[in-house]
Amino acid sequence: MEKVIETKTCKHCSISFDITDKDMEFYEKVSPTFWWKKYSISSPTLCPDCRQQRRASFRNERKFYSRKCDYSGKDIISNFSPDKNLKVYAHDVWLSDTWNAMDYSLDVYFDVSFFSQYSQLSNSVPKVSMINDNGINSINSEYCYNFSYGKNVYMVTTAWHVEDSMYSQYWAYYKDSIDCISIWNSGHLYECTNVLESYNCQFLQNSTDCSDCVFWIDLKWCKHCFWCVWLRNKKYCIFNKELTKDTFLKEMQQYNIWNYKNLLAIKDKFFLFYFHLPKLYSFQTNCIHSTWNYLNNCKNVTESFDIFNGENCKYYWWWSDEPINSYDILIWWKHELCYESIVPDLAYKSCFTDYCFNSSDIFYSEHCYSCQSCFGCIWLRNTSYCILNKQYTKEEYETLVPKIIEHMMTTWEWGEFFPSSMSPFGYNETVAQEYYPLTPPLSHSLKKDLTLPLSCKERGQEWMFQFSLSPVIARKDDEAISEDHHVADTPRDDHTWPVFNWSTYESPPPKVDKIIPADKLPQNIEDIPDDILNWAIECEVTKKPFRIIKQELEFYRKHKLPIPRRHPDQRHLDRMQLRNPRKLYERTCDKCHKPIQTTYAPDRPEIVYCQTCYEKEVY
Ligand SMILES: [Zn+2]
Ligand SMILES: [Zn+2]
Repeated sequence: MEKVIETKTCKHCSISFDITDKDMEFYEKVSPTFWWKKYSISSPTLCPDCRQQRRASFRNERKFYSRKCDYSGKDIISNFSPDKNLKVYAHDVWLSDTWNAMDYSLDVYFDVSFFSQYSQLSNSVPKVSMINDNGINSINSEYCYNFSYGKNVYMVTTAWHVEDSMYSQYWAYYKDSIDCISIWNSGHLYECTNVLESYNCQFLQNSTDCSDCVFWIDLKWCKHCFWCVWLRNKKYCIFNKELTKDTFLKEMQQYNIWNYKNLLAIKDKFFLFYFHLPKLYSFQTNCIHSTWNYLNNCKNVTESFDIFNGENCKYYWWWSDEPINSYDILIWWKHELCYESIVPDLAYKSCFTDYCFNSSDIFYSEHCYSCQSCFGCIWLRNTSYCILNKQYTKEEYETLVPKIIEHMMTTWEWGEFFPSSMSPFGYNETVAQEYYPLTPPLSHSLKKDLTLPLSCKERGQEWMFQFSLSPVIARKDDEAISEDHHVADTPRDDHTWPVFNWSTYESPPPKVDKIIPADKLPQNIEDIPDDILNWAIECEVTKKPFRIIKQELEFYRKHKLPIPRRHPDQRHLDRMQLRNPRKLYERTCDKCHKPIQTTYAPDRPEIVYCQTCYEKEVY
């Protein structure tokens, strides 16, 4: 049992949050030691939510743009919009030896903040157009982010080992599917969320090991089911009633779910029906002492979401596999003793980093691959003892880094992730906007605080969790990239504190023969002509035009599915709505009144059961 040893007030949102004895043990473990002296990372100043929001504001995984490679001038796809005053290189150029990130190295100065210096480096070292392995381990998968080992994949992010799939997120070992989220080892799926080991299913949620089913929630080991919930090891069921194969097939013909209007009516009715059924407090499989949601094979994984095979981890926000002894991580695979980092794949002791892969003892760095002992570095490979991309000897490194840390302690930077204002993306381009939506510009409560006089100490604190008021630095069409390094944000004397970057760039509309309103589309896929590939459809919600690609049309035809009426971005938001918010509440089971921790807020209207009561209901 963890013991609360301090209750702190978040410096951003002012809520109180607890620090436990185990937390302190962890912060000590990840603190670096130089010359027998430990440089402690103190407990966080922001609450877990604000820390997640800050990290998420650095991750743009779904907004892609056409732009030029700043090295070759070739047309490329990138998650950096073309108006940003940054150098962006095509993936193959960025990986090549035609340039060297060490050429951008900086000396360390102690009369300015460390983040200012890092920001200068970050704004000068070329960015990679997209993080994927297209052309290396993947084929025809250019429009994918944080992606590897794929073939014919389009608009898929945070996934690997995927084939012939589109418009989805958080998958592994997956093929021939569209519009899914959080899927593992499955295929031929459409509009599914949180599904493992399943095949040929549509509109499926929170289920495992099923096939040939449509509209179902929480099923296991089922086949040929329609409009069912809570079934185990059943086949040929409609409305949870088992039928003969012939009756099942005959009734399915009558429902004619392949007609768009019918499909919509069935979907609405299904979710209304499900709404009134008791809900499980948390989806966990083979977990011990773990809290939050969607956890598989986890031990002591608390306040975490979407984790596979984790042990002794806390504050994970989504999708990680095999993490050990780590806190505050956003996404991905095998790592140990990592803290406040994004995608620390195969990393050991990676703290305050973004995409540092197969590296150890890395602090305040991004895109360092197979590196050891680096501090404040960007895009280095197979190297050690570098600071701000400059090579030092081991002795020099171990003498200089403690001085930097001591300097960072005086500027209140040590122990904090980079402030959101240093993100190269507009807040509205990032996943932070999905989970912590803000309206432009500057609607954030912090704005109110901007007029408050701040002492130097408070100002230092403020800087850690502040966000930039200035819009993302935009490059005018005819303006060359300046060689002057832009410092993303520097505290200002007039207290006009930065809040959030905000992007106003919009991609030009698609060049098409015509744009047709969604409600003019034929109801059945059989009536859709090939010509649709030359049109755009106007989204029924956002009115934003979107195109259907050939591979997608083939999928809808193969599965007899009607053409979607909503833009992929809207469909993504709709799917996200099916998942509970990433908030953990204390409430009681609505049957036995035992205390539970759940994502269902106590004032929500749903009936929520603990595991024991839920299982009694289901089985
Ligand atoms: Zn907070
Ligand atoms: Zn109960």
